[in-house]
Amino acid sequence: MKKISQFEFKCSSCDEIHKGMPSLGSRAPINYYSIQKNELEERVFLTSDTCVIDDKDFFVRGCLEFPVLNYDDKFSFGAWVSLSQENFEKFETLFDEPKRNHQSPMFGWFSSWIWPYYEDTENIKSRIHFRNDGIRPFIELEPTNHPLAIAQTNGITCNELIKIYEYYVHGKKDTAS
Ligand SMILES: [Zn+2]
Repeated sequence: MKKISQFEFKCSSCDEIHKGMPSLGSRAPINYYSIQKNELEERVFLTSDTCVIDDKDFFVRGCLEFPVLNYDDKFSFGAWVSLSQENFEKFETLFDEPKRNHQSPMFGWFSSWIWPYYEDTENIKSRIHFRNDGIRPFIELEPTNHPLAIAQTNGITCNELIKIYEYYVHGKKDTAS
């Protein structure tokens, strides 16, 4: 079957036709969302790519990429992974390095949910692979029988992607960025 190059769908939330493969993501790692609002400032350091909680939990943002059934393009979701302090510090020194894809991958625990399908995702083992030219690292999940790991390999359906889109873009949960 020929693949379709342009992803588009009529959105049931806003009635518009959305065109192009969406790129969505989580603004912060899961751990962030359990912290009381009035404690955030004191306990959390958060940028678009890094997060430190209580000076002891270190997270970085990468891209989890899914094939979409019948489409050419992959769907990319911005997700978080926790690193050791040592690797986190190395990540920061590499952050502005244009050529860094020769660096060895880093181990991390997956630290994002992907609404509305994948909530039980804490502590999936993963590795981040550095990419050049400021592109966020690529996240590789350990190939287990966890549904998210299976989805990363086998892909998601167009309908699943539309549901995820509605959650993140129309604010049904969390916030997209
Ligand atoms: Zn819409």
